[in-house]
Amino acid sequence: MRLAFTLVVLSMLCAGTARAAPAVDSIPACPADADPMQGWSTRAPPRKIFDNTYYVGTCGISSILVVGKQGDILIDGATEKAPASIEANIRALGFKLSDVKAILNTHEHSDHAGGLARLQRDTGAPVLARAPSAATLRRGASDRSDPQFAQLDQYPPVANVHVIADGQVVQVGELKLTPHATPGHAPGSTSWTWRSCEGPHCVDITYADSLSALADKHYRYADHPAYVAAFRHSIDTVASLPCDILLSPHPAASNLLARLDGEAPLVDSNACKRYADAARKNLEQRLQDENHGTAP
Ligand SMILES: [Zn+2]
Repeated sequence: MRLAFTLVVLSMLCAGTARAAPAVDSIPACPADADPMQGWSTRAPPRKIFDNTYYVGTCGISSILVVGKQGDILIDGATEKAPASIEANIRALGFKLSDVKAILNTHEHSDHAGGLARLQRDTGAPVLARAPSAATLRRGASDRSDPQFAQLDQYPPVANVHVIADGQVVQVGELKLTPHATPGHAPGSTSWTWRSCEGPHCVDITYADSLSALADKHYRYADHPAYVAAFRHSIDTVASLPCDILLSPHPAASNLLARLDGEAPLVDSNACKRYADAARKNLEQRLQDENHGTAP
């Protein structure tokens, strides 16, 4: 049985319909051909993804807002410099920072967690994370269990972190988001799923964490067979998630901004499977390269 982490929201027991978002002021579009390694702190125009789910991140890093009748959930804080943009995006959509009742994270690297401390300060919301990630978020620094440890940047430590388990549903009002442990890219990597409905039209949304097998020069995946087994299991998990709309922490990894602009299909039930297939090839290639002494 799955336990739910329920945040009791006493202040907003209004039973109205979901709050509507007014038009967004004009914010420059992200360059379509930008290097995916750039624009991590550059404000992207905020926009609706589907129903209650909005993109409030930067041109290079996702931040996702899920809006409920009794409070909202924010996933990922992007870089240390990004919160001003994320907060401006939340406001531009007509929502309030004080309505954010829980902050979640995909993984504990500075490009997705660097802004969490500031976002927590400005919203007052707790951060909910799986144990391996929680420890890192509290320090603002990874340890040797992370394959990229030697090349990772530190970031402002996060104070109020609650530990949640794999599958422990996070609930704010009627919102229910499920964490799926998908360790590999980072030890605390977590993918999130929820269901959103526009009238009778419902979709399963998967915010699948990064699955790239990167490492610093001291780490060989081949020396960590249990970690590799868990990583392979994570890839299988992502392949099997209910997935009408795939979101990814690096929007470029799922062509997300172009899909939100209508240049490619937003809904594609095979997207998670393809994302996982690419990751499986990437991991096996990494292991092969380590064997041949050609890993970067
Ligand atoms: Zn990362």
